[in-house]
Amino acid sequence: MVVKKEVIKTIKTYDRDNITIATLGSHSALNIFKGAKEEGFRTLCICKKGDEIVYKKFPLADEIVLVNDFKELLNPKIQEKLRALNTILIPHGSFNAYIARRDITEKLFVPLFGNRELLEWETNREKQREWLKGAGLKIPAYFSSPEDINKLVVVKFQGARGGRGYFLTQSSIGFYRKGKEMVKKGYLTEKDLRNSQIQEYIMGVNVYPLYFRSILKNETEFFSVDKRYESFADNIGRIPADEQILLTLNPTYTIVGNIPITIRESLLPEFIRMGDNVVARSEKIANPGIIGPFCLETVVTENLDIVTFELSARIVAGANVGIGGSPYTYLKYGEGMYMGKRIAREIKEAIRSNRLEKIVT
Ligand code: AMP
Ligand code: AMP
Repeated sequence: MVVKKEVIKTIKTYDRDNITIATLGSHSALNIFKGAKEEGFRTLCICKKGDEIVYKKFPLADEIVLVNDFKELLNPKIQEKLRALNTILIPHGSFNAYIARRDITEKLFVPLFGNRELLEWETNREKQREWLKGAGLKIPAYFSSPEDINKLVVVKFQGARGGRGYFLTQSSIGFYRKGKEMVKKGYLTEKDLRNSQIQEYIMGVNVYPLYFRSILKNETEFFSVDKRYESFADNIGRIPADEQILLTLNPTYTIVGNIPITIRESLLPEFIRMGDNVVARSEKIANPGIIGPFCLETVVTENLDIVTFELSARIVAGANVGIGGSPYTYLKYGEGMYMGKRIAREIKEAIRSNRLEKIVT
């Protein structure tokens, strides 16, 4: 609450003709910077020492602030500098991954494009499930205790970590054996395991639709679709089954990249309705609901059931498959629309119509 008041106070003091768009240098930063530049904003990258090579090769950041650790974003001096530059921060996956969620909601006083309150819902798997259920989406079955496992399940851990450390099992014995193995390998801690979420494994293919909820236009746009390229899951099929058995492999879901897809047009009505319903529900749980990008993580089964197992209420790295334009943005905008640009355009429109405080928290 203190942060919210402070942010609104800050944004009111901003020089609206000289807004800077900033983010952490990773994840979807290039996407964000390119869009900001195209819409005429100044850009700033908070970059880990050693990674500046990226933002020099792709010179889209007008200023690079070097840090040893992304947590330094919370440093009062850096926050002061950002506010002096009339900065709006664009949160992405590295915010949750490298800065404690509490610190983002309680110690970061720079205006953030998006709804900070929903960050809590995003990083907490139980709350997410409530949100998805409340929106009427199909979700996997959940098991509250390892002893209840009676089918193939995926065991997950709190926070965005791109599938690292997940494992599959079909019994409580498997749960404890594999869990121990993962702890030994250093993928997990005992605490992670205790707080894990056990979810029915849905047989089907990954489909990740990306949306943009415009507060200003009161509209939810369907942006692009991708699937993930995961180092183990996408490679295991290349090893013959007899060798797999001998290797007693434990597939994980570490993300390496994303692949663009288009989906059957007959699936579009449902995907579009799902986006609208998730937005409608978000208004109830944290008014005014989602501000800007969000993504649903779904599995589509052979019966064309769409089961949603996760949601991200911010730009996702899958948005990078749409840099320069996706088939779906082409249908609406013609050439050249992508998430980084759409975000910047929303900010521009908010400046024009004097509604910046509606899109930052
Ligand atoms: P990074 O800055 O690359 O370490 O990413 C920050 C967080 O986002 C990590 O938890 C990653 O696992 C996750 N992440 C990064 N890239 C992707 C991607 N392409 N798809 C999904 N998650 C990702
Ligand atoms: P997540 O970190 O939740 O995005 O999940 C990482 C990966 O695990 C996904 O890309 C899927 O390949 C897989 N996955 C997660 N949950 C399920 C599920 N309930 N059923 C099938 N696959 C899943």
